[in-house]
Amino acid sequence: MRTSLIVAAGGSGSRFRQSLVRDTALGKKTSKDFSRQSGLSKLFFPLAGRPLLAHSIDVFQKYPQIRETIFAVPPESKKILEDLIRCFKWRAVKVVNGGRTRAQSVRNGLRKADRKSDWIMVHDGARPFVAEDALRKLFREAPRADGVILAKKMVPTIKQTDAAGEVVKTIDRANLYEAQTPQLVRRAILEKAYQSPRALQATDEAALLESVNARVRVVAHEGWNPKITTAQDLELARAFLGEDSEIRTGFGRDTHRLVRGRKFFLGGVRLPFERGPLGHSDGDALLHAIADAILGATGAGDLGEWFSDQDKRYKNIRSEKMLKAILQSLGGWQIQHIDTIIILERPRLGPYKKRMRRKISELFHLPEDAVSVKAKTAEGLGPEGEGRAVSCEAIVTVRRIAASARKGMRR
Ligand code: MG
Repeated sequence: MRTSLIVAAGGSGSRFRQSLVRDTALGKKTSKDFSRQSGLSKLFFPLAGRPLLAHSIDVFQKYPQIRETIFAVPPESKKILEDLIRCFKWRAVKVVNGGRTRAQSVRNGLRKADRKSDWIMVHDGARPFVAEDALRKLFREAPRADGVILAKKMVPTIKQTDAAGEVVKTIDRANLYEAQTPQLVRRAILEKAYQSPRALQATDEAALLESVNARVRVVAHEGWNPKITTAQDLELARAFLGEDSEIRTGFGRDTHRLVRGRKFFLGGVRLPFERGPLGHSDGDALLHAIADAILGATGAGDLGEWFSDQDKRYKNIRSEKMLKAILQSLGGWQIQHIDTIIILERPRLGPYKKRMRRKISELFHLPEDAVSVKAKTAEGLGPEGEGRAVSCEAIVTVRRIAASARKGMRR
């Protein structure tokens, strides 16, 4: 499939600029920011250290079917685009003038497309997160139709209203999709569609193809493939790439004396042993070490402050309950990774380490490879080595989206 990629980057970004004007008016951005940014298309705004457009192009550059990339940009963006092409060494590139509408931009690109290309792929320059597997699916499905479009199955409930805003009905969303890009179409059919007098009003290639009764299929995907339209979208994209996230690490340690007549809970797993940890709660030293590491990372005190051993309510409480209470008040922090060590002479933990790991990953809704449970003996030394105590240590990594980006999400 010889394919020419047309990147529609011709829009004026007026909604983006309006949102900047609004933010400036609301005092969220200074007028200095605005004057510096207003002349520049959103496609060149930085996102994780590179212009937005560079993210949008990356995935296509790896694709052997795509023989060339044609950018349709407004004349005032040409200079900066040429700088980028040099800087990122994009291969087989052409630049054409963008039109007033997307359809005009695509038509301008189509005229410049290599005659040998029998497929045309169109992509919005403002969609930076196209996944490789989505692209693979498009190429796989395209030969079965005249065109394929990347699409997302509708999840929200959709209401149809009359002109006065009164709900007429709820639309059955079983067969509803949001059209996104890339869209991959047969060149001959696209060219034919452009001969129609109403072609230039089409909002996407699929709509164009519908006008000539072509067969267009959707290729559904699950990924996040937003079109960056407002300044808030850009902030979300930055947060998505981790640019605005804050990462912290916390450390926790706990020791419990082992005595007869107590059940032995460790990492939420019951160990069959004649002794168990003495404690006001169930004495699960591993979960206590993890809890203290979380509280340390999030600056939320220590376990003793949360669950006093003077408080009768917590007598023999299962440590899982204590953890769940902590997890409910993390204030935006997400746990990313838990690493632990257990120091215990007996029983040997070989058969139980996996169960503890699974239990902890379930408690924290983490993949198992984000949890580590390691066990050591103390070589007969000290209270652990003499079998009188169990000690545990934990390091927990947490992450949260920085305050500036969270503000953007709430709006
Ligand atoms: Mg403890």
